[in-house]
Amino acid sequence: MQHIAPLARLVEQFRRLPGIGPKSAARLAYHVLAMDREQSRELAEAIVDAKEKIGYCSVCFNLTDCNPCRICQSEERDTGVICVVEEPQDVAAMERTREFKGLYHVLHGSLSPLDGIGPDELRLKELLSRLREGGVNEVIMATNPDVEGEATAMYIARLLKPLGIKVTRIGHGLPVGGDLEYADEVTLSKALENRREM
Ligand SMILES: [Zn+2]
Repeated sequence: MQHIAPLARLVEQFRRLPGIGPKSAARLAYHVLAMDREQSRELAEAIVDAKEKIGYCSVCFNLTDCNPCRICQSEERDTGVICVVEEPQDVAAMERTREFKGLYHVLHGSLSPLDGIGPDELRLKELLSRLREGGVNEVIMATNPDVEGEATAMYIARLLKPLGIKVTRIGHGLPVGGDLEYADEVTLSKALENRREM
């Protein structure tokens, strides 16, 4: 590639995105340069705007543009059930099923000692203080059906035992080692329906 500094900079930025190698980064950069000025401005503004307006809900830690988020604020949700997930994308997946009417708690990861992710790196303290406030009678562990997700579910179930709250795990049927985020709505609805007590 001939060296044009602004082009190199753009390629470099795309390379930082997940799943983008050098070739894809170059392809995206050339694509942006082929856009008309207005289109490229819209793209850049959408990125800045999303970053500025979206943050984490102070209650459930899902992504939101208002605080508390719309789900936490809703009067139509069942406040007695909290579904614990790893990432905000998993909330979106659960919402697509239209089956779940409770609230969420986003951990922002799963226990992974090899990657240095222990209980303190997850939003566990916040979950405990939510539960200590009372009013919750079931916590559904909807972490991913992989090794880290199972270990995380088990760890939290043990942690919640003294609180006397029913803890359930979403049922099998989800592909083992898979990602909740990519499960289709029917599979996820079934998994939710077939949850079992831990
Ligand atoms: Zn919330």
